[in-house]
Amino acid sequence: MSKPRALIIGGSLGGLIAAHLLRSVGWDAVIYERNAEDLISRGAGIGTHQHLIDILRRVGIAFDDSMGVQVGRVLCLDRDGAVALEKETVRVMSGWARLHRSLREALPGDCYRLGHALARVDEDADGVTAVLADGSRARGDLLVGADGIRSTVRAQYLPEAQPVYAGYVAWRAMLEERDVPKKIRDEIFESYAFCLPEGEQCLGYPVPGGDNDTQAGRRAYNIVWYRPTDAATTLVDLCTDASGRRHGMAIPPPLIRPEIIAAIKATARALVAPQIAEIFARSEPFFQPIFDLESRTIAFGEPVPRIVLLGDAAFVARPHVGAGVTKAALDAASLADALLAHGDDLAAALARYDREQTRFGHSLVALSREEGAYISAALKPPHERRGAELPRDIHSLMAAHHASRDRVRQLAAERE
Ligand SMILES: Cc1cc2nc3c(=O)[nH]c(=O)nc-3n(C[C@H](O)[C@H](O)[C@H](O)COP(=O)(O)OP(=O)(O)OC[C@H]3O[C@@H](n4cnc5c(N)ncnc54)[C@H](O)[C@@H]3O)c2cc1C
Repeated sequence: MSKPRALIIGGSLGGLIAAHLLRSVGWDAVIYERNAEDLISRGAGIGTHQHLIDILRRVGIAFDDSMGVQVGRVLCLDRDGAVALEKETVRVMSGWARLHRSLREALPGDCYRLGHALARVDEDADGVTAVLADGSRARGDLLVGADGIRSTVRAQYLPEAQPVYAGYVAWRAMLEERDVPKKIRDEIFESYAFCLPEGEQCLGYPVPGGDNDTQAGRRAYNIVWYRPTDAATTLVDLCTDASGRRHGMAIPPPLIRPEIIAAIKATARALVAPQIAEIFARSEPFFQPIFDLESRTIAFGEPVPRIVLLGDAAFVARPHVGAGVTKAALDAASLADALLAHGDDLAAALARYDREQTRFGHSLVALSREEGAYISAALKPPHERRGAELPRDIHSLMAAHHASRDRVRQLAAERE
């Protein structure tokens, strides 16, 4: 008997982990990724949680020292670069490209189809059809929308679920270790370092280097700097290119105007610890707006449900909890476990998946929203700020940060 087939839309980390897990429970899985080429340069640091590491091991990926950089302490740096607070920690910082490479290499090549963009989904009693932008069609038993925050699958089945701008952007930067001045390397490179300009949050940590190397000397330092940015004027300006063309709420990094880059580097020198500002000044920063996204349901289809959302297509939690990839992996594990437990009863399997991961998604979004509330509120008049919106000092931020890591672990464990 032939295996049931899953069509996975989106070949980033969520889609790849889903392909591995579905194959491990007896499904055939094919990934359709709209980009024509591998985005090996999606240079972004990815913090990990134990649940992600466990799931990667479950699909046979050895999560060894080559997968990420171990960090043993968290520092808070004041405006002058002095250590205001220091705590021990145990965490592994990986990178999008490092995880993607391992996941992709471990799949047979014909499972991963680049240059295939989904246009729409058709369904009937016997199966589901992915209609691709070039007019070709692919037939399967299940379709997994792992196509990110602007999901085509979600737009068709749940158009009312829209990303909501959180009121701030994340400026991101990465610099190879060899380009970090030695004094700064000695002071902060091996640490997870926070700086807290008022109403903002800037953090840095080591990640695998450009060629995914985790050995000392060949790593990179990753910076994420959250800054309140009003949507109506400042964000529009940030997203306008040198020709005057506006790019909505996100602009491709190469099109950010040089004067914007010069200005943010100067602002870094004025507001954040000099060690972080120096690394930032030597890099090529870009920004991403921060959104919340919630879906009231993540399984669809008539007469038999055959369509699910997974990862950022389903829920987007602000990055403070560093759990986007972990959530995508937990979604994939929940889906695979439900399909295994319910055999041919797809309706029962998808109902279980929907129940488990919708609850988890809402909880994670709420947790991350609370962590970022003081940044969202920085554009409000001070007398209107309440509870978590009030400014945070170093001690309360560190306490919240540590508690949220435990809370992610707890929420993930409660699903099981
Ligand atoms: C500033 C910042 C910091 C972050 N830090 C962390 C962190 O430390 N740890 C962590 O776990 N997470 C972090 N995240 C979140 C993490 O990056 C995402 O949660 C994760 O990448 C989601 O993976 P995904 O596979 O669901 O979606 P995506 O990575 O968005 O991938 C979606 C894929 O679908 C493809 N696609 C889209 N539409 C179509 C279509 N119509 N047809 C075919 N393909 C399509 C896209 O090309 C893309 O490859 C951070 C996010 C931000 C913004």
